[in-house]
Amino acid sequence: EVRVRFAPSPTGNLHVGGARTALFNYLFTRSKGGKFVLRIEDTDLERSTKESEEAMLQDLSWLGLQWNEGPDIGGEYGPYRQSERNALYKQYAEKLLKSGHVYRCFCSNEELEKMKEIAKLKQLPPVYTGRWAKATDEEVEEELAIGTPYTYRFRVPKEGTLKINDLIRGEVSWGLDTLGDFVIMRSNGQPVYNFCVTVDDATMAISHVIRAEEHLPNTLRQALIYKALGFPMPHFAHVSLILAPDRSKLSKRHGATSVGQFREMGYLPQAMVNYLALLGWGDGTENEFFTLEQLVEKFSISRVNKSGAVFDSAKLRWMNGQHLRSLPSEDLTKLLGERWKSAGILTESEGLFINDAVELLKDGIDLITDSDKALSNLLSYPLHATLASEEGKSVLEDKLSEVAASLLAAYDNGEFLCAIEEGHAGWQKWVKSFGKSLKRKGKFLFMPLRVLLTGKLHGPDIGASVLLLHKAGKCNLISSQAG
Ligand code: GLU
Repeated sequence: EVRVRFAPSPTGNLHVGGARTALFNYLFTRSKGGKFVLRIEDTDLERSTKESEEAMLQDLSWLGLQWNEGPDIGGEYGPYRQSERNALYKQYAEKLLKSGHVYRCFCSNEELEKMKEIAKLKQLPPVYTGRWAKATDEEVEEELAIGTPYTYRFRVPKEGTLKINDLIRGEVSWGLDTLGDFVIMRSNGQPVYNFCVTVDDATMAISHVIRAEEHLPNTLRQALIYKALGFPMPHFAHVSLILAPDRSKLSKRHGATSVGQFREMGYLPQAMVNYLALLGWGDGTENEFFTLEQLVEKFSISRVNKSGAVFDSAKLRWMNGQHLRSLPSEDLTKLLGERWKSAGILTESEGLFINDAVELLKDGIDLITDSDKALSNLLSYPLHATLASEEGKSVLEDKLSEVAASLLAAYDNGEFLCAIEEGHAGWQKWVKSFGKSLKRKGKFLFMPLRVLLTGKLHGPDIGASVLLLHKAGKCNLISSQAG
């Protein structure tokens, strides 16, 4: 059975890198009909917080990456927080002590420091050279009897290489001679990170470990522990870094990097998921638009790229627009309508107006948050500012007053309102005859009309805008302001 895990440390927010790791795990296991395990790595008690754990769960849920087992829902391999698994780590540490893969090391900190200094002087790798690797039972008993503190140290083979076949990077191998015996349990009984991860992955029956490239050095130690414990080794896949446009590691100074920030900025989870999937993966075609279901169907770990992927926030924004516009129109209308009402831009509860407003404005919106400005802009009538601008002046010079006079006449005698009462067809008919009577067409007709009717030089389709403003009861602009 395919079982993968996402194992965040609850010491901050879920960042785009972590979210992508979670996504790749999710896609991989879903595409194979496997399980997705969520494990909280809170061994660093100082830095781990409950709030961070809760926020991470919330962000993952928001992205739609539902797990099958985890701290909140349990499962048959629980508990799912490392802080609740100490007894297990202890048990396996004892097992390794018994089998001789681990020994008690009574070296003091001073001795260890000295070892490091000597290695440095001799320009040798800083490996453990202490005597406890070869101590006799009697020597150990003596120290135990006087209560000398000790760590559990893992016995690393002194030569040879260790190889893994990484599903993304291919064969990765390490020489063992420079590793040195490492601690798996501190003198206060606290198990060390790499040991916990191995015990967890093994006892949770994880079949595939998909994680960030920066964990590759840990894999060496973890693989040795796997072997010593006699557990079958999982498959490993190390995903490359996410880079900033300058190809440095993506960090806060490059702007928003946490999933929560993007949510607050008005991004849709669908777009986030789609964009994150493209950071290092593609289906081999030109297509870049995918729903989560489509990703599950298309994803394959062998298509994940070895090299770093550049995070392009402009592209994410563009992609959000694509997803926004592909929402079923009732959903988009609901989303924007609620937003406009709660922002106080719209007091009308008129459904019809909202529908039309969404239709009219959606092409110019990439983020839900853009829609506030788009609607207030549509409803505004900044005629004075428009006419004062360079572009506005040229419209003014083109005998704007002549168009204004005719428009006012059409407005006052009811002809204009009568026409737009009939909707789009009415508007078109009116514009045509209005242009004819003034001997104007194209931009010489539409530019002054746009300025007079909307107060602006640019915007969505003018006929649709006018009809919408009329519907919203905001079409008295001409008589009140333009005159
Ligand atoms: N807890 C680690 C992290 O937050 C993940 C370790 C792993 O995936 O093996 O980066």
